[in-house]
Amino acid sequence: MEKKKLRCPAGHGEMKLTNKQKHMNFKGVDIDYPVGCFICPTCGLEAGTLAQGADIQKTMADAYRKKVGLMSGKEIIEGRKKQHLTQDAFASRMKIGIASIKRWEGGIIQSKSMDKMLRQALSGHLCGDLLTGNRPFVIPRVKMALLYLEKVIGVKVLKERDKMLFASKYMWYIDMQAYRETGQSITGATYAALPMGPQLNNYKDLVEEIISATVQQTEPLTEEEKWIIEKVAFAFPRTRDVYNASHRETVWKEKSTGNTIPYSDAYRLTEL
Ligand SMILES: [Zn+2]
Repeated sequence: MEKKKLRCPAGHGEMKLTNKQKHMNFKGVDIDYPVGCFICPTCGLEAGTLAQGADIQKTMADAYRKKVGLMSGKEIIEGRKKQHLTQDAFASRMKIGIASIKRWEGGIIQSKSMDKMLRQALSGHLCGDLLTGNRPFVIPRVKMALLYLEKVIGVKVLKERDKMLFASKYMWYIDMQAYRETGQSITGATYAALPMGPQLNNYKDLVEEIISATVQQTEPLTEEEKWIIEKVAFAFPRTRDVYNASHRETVWKEKSTGNTIPYSDAYRLTEL
């Protein structure tokens, strides 16, 4: 903590550095977090909170993580060091990008399922799945994500007796982007390189199931996931945009027909 002295403007001499508990509602959870500030012992005037910006964000994020039972940034760092792992090695063990590790250690809040995986990896287990993007495949989530996308772009992409020509490409970008940003796909789907572009693996067997899926009993999309879908929607507002973009991707072009496209390829996408 920086050393700083402050004198009371009312002439009472030096003010005292005190840790004050602040209270707020953060993401729907009540949290208390400490903020360093100067208080005059004589008149009680408060001034100059020490932690600002990123510091405060980090303190709040950690208070939140503690409250809801997620690992804090510090706990992740300590756990990783106990395993003698660099951020890079830890990322490979979890089969995610190093950026995610940096973000979580730096104060960005991980999802519950990623927290579970973090704990697994920190207890020495190999984990992570590059075919599903670290999530079990949940068909209703495909429908949920596509319905949300349709709302944003104002075009219907999920159609009966459809080859999912556009829907699959949107889903592919959405899942890859989610994996890149959060360490986890949104649907758990596996994708394959087909002549007409990246496609949901076994899509022929899945189309009807996706269309008739009921989304009510499925874990709803988080704010972060919605934001990722919006990002893809804004990048490819028209169906032909997503079609053309996916055909320019090396990770698709280099694969033989039918080969799966692992989530690690998310870092090599060029159109998003
Ligand atoms: Zn004073």
